[in-house]
Amino acid sequence: MNIFLRFLCVTALIAGISAVGYYGYRLRGYKARTPQYNWKAVETKKNIIPVAIIGSGPAGLSAALYTSRAHLHTVVFQGPQAGGQLMSTSEVENWPGIGKKQGPEIMKAVSEQAQHFGAVLLNDTIKKVNFSVWPYELTTSEDTLVYALAVIISTGASPERLKDVPGEEKYWGKGVTGCAICDAAFYKDKDVVVVGGGDSAAEQALQLTAYARHITILVRGEKMRASAAMQDRLKRFDYIKIIYNTAITEIEGDGEHVTGIQLKTDKGTQHMPIDGVFLAIGHKPNTALFKDQIAFTPGGYIAHQCRTQETSQAGVFAAGDASDERYRQAAVASGDGVKAALDAERFLQHIGFDEIYAKKIERKFYDPIISSLGDEIQAIESIEQFDKIISESTVPVIADFYTKFCSSCLQMLPFVQAIAAQMKDRVICVKVDIEKIPELKERYSISTVPFFVVIKKGLVVGRYNDVMTKREFFDFATRFINE
Ligand code: NDP
Repeated sequence: MNIFLRFLCVTALIAGISAVGYYGYRLRGYKARTPQYNWKAVETKKNIIPVAIIGSGPAGLSAALYTSRAHLHTVVFQGPQAGGQLMSTSEVENWPGIGKKQGPEIMKAVSEQAQHFGAVLLNDTIKKVNFSVWPYELTTSEDTLVYALAVIISTGASPERLKDVPGEEKYWGKGVTGCAICDAAFYKDKDVVVVGGGDSAAEQALQLTAYARHITILVRGEKMRASAAMQDRLKRFDYIKIIYNTAITEIEGDGEHVTGIQLKTDKGTQHMPIDGVFLAIGHKPNTALFKDQIAFTPGGYIAHQCRTQETSQAGVFAAGDASDERYRQAAVASGDGVKAALDAERFLQHIGFDEIYAKKIERKFYDPIISSLGDEIQAIESIEQFDKIISESTVPVIADFYTKFCSSCLQMLPFVQAIAAQMKDRVICVKVDIEKIPELKERYSISTVPFFVVIKKGLVVGRYNDVMTKREFFDFATRFINE
């Protein structure tokens, strides 16, 4: 054998050994992480979910579309912001194939498509997971224990808050906010700043253009990192100004609302009178729930096994911004969701879950009836109607103030409906689109939504201006109802 052939043989041998070693390692790794598939345990339990999806942004709902279309019973726990970050995005022009559309419209279409194939979408949140036993244990916000054969994590990312800036905490919801699409209407003809230089900052500034008089974007570095397309859109508005190399050092107010900010610029310190501060300084992955259960990247994102959406735990997959350190785009999240769904489908086949077995345990599937929420609560159309209700009512009135595109408000609505249905004779619940009746904004000093006001005998006895879990909302409401 000549030298060249010998070299080829040795190379082929080394490659062969490496490949066997690599796949052997993958397989061993896979088996090592694979828990005992205790089918007996599945058969003795109720609340079984073949595919549980935690989170309902583009990743979660795309995954739900695929798994439900593959005839796998799929339950989506939608989490605190049903529909995810696109619910607070106005114009989306980079979702392939649709030109321009509002973010909430896209998410509505995807959720309808998933439901069409049988996915169950719940206004519920998972508060605890246990991946050390299989079927995997998930605890809902109401303390219901459900058992998942496969889990897809798509919990997304949440806006970052400024840290160590005096006034931020004090004036949160009173002029400091992270949601322009929810709160822009409160800043008609007012002066506002947007903090940040990414796509979210550009997006929030654009959402404010319909209302604010002057919008100043405060960028901490020398340039914005927003895409060229978004920066071009900003240039169309002569009342949007961008200041570079600047940082907020303090947020000031009169005790009730923001009145100004202190700035540090390359020219020194400066005071700027303003009415609102919109934060858009990046996002952090929502992964705290899975701490100690699966592996993470050094940046705090969920780690994948190479080239799949599988996490370090067999049968648990991750998709979207919770596991995407690099791209963080809605369309990428959607593609990740599809991949996670295909991986989950393959995993279930691999462990022996097929249509025959699904039929056998079908009656154990978790599928709570969510249509028992009762009638729609009364929508207020005029200030006269509102005043008549509060002056004539002998029971407390809970007014749920919202705006059309506020996704957190949509999330809260079923809880208000549930209270209205369950305590029919002891409370009156109404919902008020604050943009339709702006007089009530002034009357109750509302500068953010969702906002709840409880009125008894014409007097305000309770106020709350944030998202609550169902239990927190029930605790809040029943305190006044039972008084
Ligand atoms: P990014 O991480 O892209 O940008 C965050 C911005 O905030 C940066 O300019 C950063 O400055 C700045 N920043 C961070 N911390 C501070 C601070 N403490 N004080 C002042 N400024 C600060 O986050 P985004 O939320 O904007 O975007 C996240 C992802 O979502 C991106 O991939 C983006 O492309 C995508 N997205 C896309 C949209 C679209 O296509 N329509 C809309 C919205 C988001 P610095 O640059 O100096 O680090």
